Amino acid sequence: MAVLPRSVEKVIEEFGKLPGVGPKSAARMAYFFLRAPRERSEGLAHALIAMKDQTKTCSVCFNVADMDPCAICSDRTRNRASICVVEEPLDVVALEQSGVYSGTYFVLGGVVSPADGIGPEQLRMRDLKSVVSERAQSVANSTRTDGPAELEIIIATNPSLEGEATSAYIHDMLDEIELPEGVTIRLSRLAVGLPTGADLEYADRQTLKRALEGRTTL
Ligand SMILES: [Zn+2]
Repeated sequence: MAVLPRSVEKVIEEFGKLPGVGPKSAARMAYFFLRAPRERSEGLAHALIAMKDQTKTCSVCFNVADMDPCAICSDRTRNRASICVVEEPLDVVALEQSGVYSGTYFVLGGVVSPADGIGPEQLRMRDLKSVVSERAQSVANSTRTDGPAELEIIIATNPSLEGEATSAYIHDMLDEIELPEGVTIRLSRLAVGLPTGADLEYADRQTLKRALEGRTTL
């Protein structure tokens, strides 16, 4: 005999499928909604449906947006000769909040992860390739008269094993692109180092290694 009504079990099951939510938290959230007024549940349900109905994927950078192309891609003041490649839309939010980047983005939609069966073909590598080719062409066109032109690509995948593997893959893929004459690609990887407030002696070897490699000249 089931102890819980099936409808409650179902909600616990659904919450349990959310990232980072274990069975206990799932049950706690379900009970919260069970006890809360009906408006709470309606509010959540409506917000979720509205989010699905009212968001689009930008056809240029694949970021989540309320219009296509997104606000960043349609902003003519952004530097289109710079593309920052990130894993997920939330990474765009984080970088935008830093306020230091004025180029454009490309959202890969994940990272290469053989353990999870995610290869480069599951990500937007082909789209990235065509965006880079296209952008290289427009860089060539806009600077035809004043010498060499540069397209900057910043790989901003996470400093995880998967992020590194993805970065290496992008690097190889960019090598295959035939660039218009006079255009070069300046490729960089986001520096990874010590978080502010961290103690050197507690940093792991990998973090220290990357911090040293990414050191800046003063
Ligand atoms: Zn966009």
